[in-house]
Amino acid sequence: MKILDGNKLSEKYIKIIRQKTAKMKRRPVLAMVLVGDDPASKIYVRRKGVLCEQAGIDSKTIILPENTSQKKLLGAIDKLNKDKNITAIMVQLPLPSHIDKKKIIESVDPKKDADCLHPENLGKFIQEGEGYSIVAPATPLGIIKMLEECKIPIAGKKAVVIGRSNIVGKPMAQFLLSRDATVTVCHRLTKNLAKITREADILVAAVGKKNLVKAPMIKKGAVVIDVGMNRDGKKLLGDVDFENVSKKASYITPVPGGVGPMTIAMLLWNTLELAK
Ligand code: NAP
Repeated sequence: MKILDGNKLSEKYIKIIRQKTAKMKRRPVLAMVLVGDDPASKIYVRRKGVLCEQAGIDSKTIILPENTSQKKLLGAIDKLNKDKNITAIMVQLPLPSHIDKKKIIESVDPKKDADCLHPENLGKFIQEGEGYSIVAPATPLGIIKMLEECKIPIAGKKAVVIGRSNIVGKPMAQFLLSRDATVTVCHRLTKNLAKITREADILVAAVGKKNLVKAPMIKKGAVVIDVGMNRDGKKLLGDVDFENVSKKASYITPVPGGVGPMTIAMLLWNTLELAK
């Protein structure tokens, strides 16, 4: 079994981005908007700021209180859209429940959409594949880079994605499909999940339920990608029972240190692409 080391690979990408930003006349500027006091979101935004610095990207963090109205948030995004110095915008999710996430995502200028969440970018990506939108969804893009780095074949393989969110599951399925895998997408109402996952050569778990994927659900030699981030006290756990699944898998991503760091690296990659 081999570990897919997201920390190591993300360092490689940060270095590549730094080399590219060093040659640019103006450094890209990523604006991060954080609404509320969610401790995990604060940690992610701080981490992104640190890695921006390492990658030669300027960052600006706008922190708004939990009770910020939707109107005020839309006003803050509008200001960033119009600010010529800002080249990319990322609104940290989740947002407080009184705010309509869809409206906020749609309010970001597609040309500054670092997360590839705007329907214009995501639509182009889903319909036409990579290369048609300037950016690609960061988490699945990071996963594809990890698979490619380890020369893991995708074409002709059976891939199963658990989860169908716009941010991970759906674009992940699209990435695998565009690389000629046969893809099955599972969700909350999928019957006999274990029977389906046992057929997977590549299994991606993007659910948000610790230990959902257990060893009997895995085919021997499968490649297992764990996207889940579940807080268990101070510990961060994935969706996969790492200890037992790793005994059967050929490759596996750890949590932490797998998909997470690659997501940030790809967010910065998108920021670079938008600034070009
Ligand atoms: P989400 O929007 O809540 O989607 C979760 C998906 O899981 C839904 O499609 C849901 O099905 C499905 N699901 C829930 N329970 C299930 C079950 N028992 N069996 C099968 N499917 C089930 O979450 P998300 O934004 O995609 O994120 C998923 C996880 O990845 C979370 O832990 C999140 O924190 C993490 N994440 C990590 C990164 C990273 O960089 N590492 C990035 C993004 C997200 P329905 O559609 O039927 O409800």
